Amino acid sequence: MSTSNQNSYLDSPIEFLKGVGPIKGDLLKRELGIFTFKDLLFDYPFRYVDKTSFQKIKDIQGDGQIVQVKGKIKALNVLGQKRGKRLVAIFGDDTGAIELVWFKGVKWLKENLSVGQQYVIYGKVNRFKNKINIPHPEIEIPKGKVIAESSFVPVYHSGEKLSAKGLDAKGRRKLVEHLLEKLKAYHIPETLPDYLIEKLKMMAKFEAIKHIHFPANQGILDRAKNRLKFEELFFMQVQLLRTKAHRKQDLLGYTFERVGDHFNKFFTQKLTFELTGAQKRVIKEIRKDLGSGTQMNRLLQGDVGSGKTIVAVMSMLIALDNGYQSCLLAPTEILATQHYNSILKGLKGLGIRVGYLSGNVKGKKRSHLLKLLSEGDIDIIVGTHALIEDPVIFKRLGLAITDEQHRFGVKQRAKLWSKSKPYPPHILVMTATPIPRTLAMTVYGDLEVSVIDELPPGRKDIKTVHQTESHRPSVIKFMRSQIEAGRQIYVVYPLIEESEKLDLKNLEAGYEYLLQFFPRPEFQMSIVHGRMKAADKESEMQRFVKGKTQILVATTVIEVGVDVPNSTVMIIENTERFGLSQLHQLRGRVGRGGNQSYCILMTGFKLSKEAKQRINIMVKTNNGFEISEADLELRGPGDIVGTRQSGIADFQLVNLATDNKFLQTTRRIAEGILEKDPFLNAPENKVLRTNMLLLYKESDLWSRIS
Ligand code: ADP
Ligand code: MG
Repeated sequence: MSTSNQNSYLDSPIEFLKGVGPIKGDLLKRELGIFTFKDLLFDYPFRYVDKTSFQKIKDIQGDGQIVQVKGKIKALNVLGQKRGKRLVAIFGDDTGAIELVWFKGVKWLKENLSVGQQYVIYGKVNRFKNKINIPHPEIEIPKGKVIAESSFVPVYHSGEKLSAKGLDAKGRRKLVEHLLEKLKAYHIPETLPDYLIEKLKMMAKFEAIKHIHFPANQGILDRAKNRLKFEELFFMQVQLLRTKAHRKQDLLGYTFERVGDHFNKFFTQKLTFELTGAQKRVIKEIRKDLGSGTQMNRLLQGDVGSGKTIVAVMSMLIALDNGYQSCLLAPTEILATQHYNSILKGLKGLGIRVGYLSGNVKGKKRSHLLKLLSEGDIDIIVGTHALIEDPVIFKRLGLAITDEQHRFGVKQRAKLWSKSKPYPPHILVMTATPIPRTLAMTVYGDLEVSVIDELPPGRKDIKTVHQTESHRPSVIKFMRSQIEAGRQIYVVYPLIEESEKLDLKNLEAGYEYLLQFFPRPEFQMSIVHGRMKAADKESEMQRFVKGKTQILVATTVIEVGVDVPNSTVMIIENTERFGLSQLHQLRGRVGRGGNQSYCILMTGFKLSKEAKQRINIMVKTNNGFEISEADLELRGPGDIVGTRQSGIADFQLVNLATDNKFLQTTRRIAEGILEKDPFLNAPENKVLRTNMLLLYKESDLWSRIS
């Protein structure tokens, strides 16, 4: 049977499945996104009920507990009227009794349930006016219909609308059962080679699918899950590794062999400090890439303040020494101008032509700049996303650097690539978001990684404290003492995207409040928020950068990259509204000079458990990697920056927060296979190749045949 035939059965529209039909079919599509047999099959149970274990009624504790009890109905009464009408059963075992309540299907249940009959009930305990009951439990006669001779019963997602049409957990179970009865092994072809299945003692694919729906016991369920989890990770890793190898071997790039005048002059005349060991190492790694003749695709990770900018600058000088232009992209206007100004200053007197472009550079200025750029009369251009737009043409773009561009996806990268002929520019992606190893392997699995794991000397840990509103007076006092010592202070308010107005109100109220304690002209404050014009934002920012103001009150626009070494206090308002990585980024704005710095996390008195956990982690550690690991654990990978567009939130079974080891093993296995057979041309790997072609249709990485 050909591949397309194998698939066609599973691609049948869901309404054609026995027991579905057009009405239920519509509902499945709309409510659960289940369109085909395949969709139903691959929507695994989210939970299983072990039908062999029961609770005793006397052991039921209370609210929210999920229980399974074997017992008898002792009494059955319809109570209340109209909307309050309900069926109440007194359900007892040999240890006590509990109430079961139904508000729906009262008539049918009343007729079909019998007093004195043995039942098994399953449901969530609810507390109502100090009495506990179980609303709408699942109820079954024991050893009636036992599905698939299994004591482990799958539970699927359902909902009110679905339940009303018989597609509750039980109804859905039946559908899967029908489908599995019809399925033969060739409908779900094996995707892994025999040797791998044998070596890893894994379940065959078809078996795994059957058992994940109807496992006989926990052991079998675990094996089924492991097999399917392995697949989720394995093929992705194979693709990433192939991409990486492809770039390394096949993607030619410009060769920058020379280290010339610009680089050397900068190094000897302009560099005001000694590079850290880590910076030196990373620059070496980049030089090697640039000189290799293939295109560089490198991720540079380094905690906030680790000194990535200087690495970027020196890399751009190498490009220049070899006759090529570079660009540096930043996510915000503020950060871009800051980079521009510091690069301008840092390169002064070296005869290097530096330009700046953003959406706010308009009219003649813009067209002039674009002309210079296209004629090769600008060496380094700094800017925002405006740089990747179509009208921007380079004469000879050799290196493109992105700073803190979490939202810089594959598409944007492709746009950059197209700006250079015949080869794509070398790419350096810089980020301070410390990505846990697990995530880095998936999100950036196709990039080479450099890490700056050392801060410039003399940096002290930032002292972090948590304070509530009642401590406000002492916070003010502390601010005053720091200002008297000549330091500067950030006060940051959260940005509520849905309600910019509310933000502004918060921020302005905070500003007014501070004015009472820090009156002009003795003190000066800057204020920066998202609703200001770019030029105003910039000038307010500059007043702070130049030390003309002592306090900067701002929304999170300052989150990334802003560098004012004289500021020593970061006060974060409504800390509970910030995520961990954002808090870490904000804190990184201080502690950049030699002075002891502080971070004060302000919150209200009442905090959720999660907010407390986040704050505790911040107080406990300054280490970005520790923080990101904790973040991953608290939130799961779905929310972490950059993960959504890479598709890794699509895992069904894998949980990156807990499956770290699993991922590493999978990657090693993938590496081992590709090392011996890079294009999966060996007969024993044919099945892998077929699957890769199927999974990654758009990629041409597998088109080569031996
Ligand atoms: P980030 O990695 O967060 O982008 P920056 O590049 O902004 O960090 O550097 C932070 C600060 O540290 C800057 O003021 C920079 O000039 C300074 N710096 C960078 N490298 C060193 C070094 N080797 N020694 C001393 N200071 C350094
Ligand atoms: Mg930076």
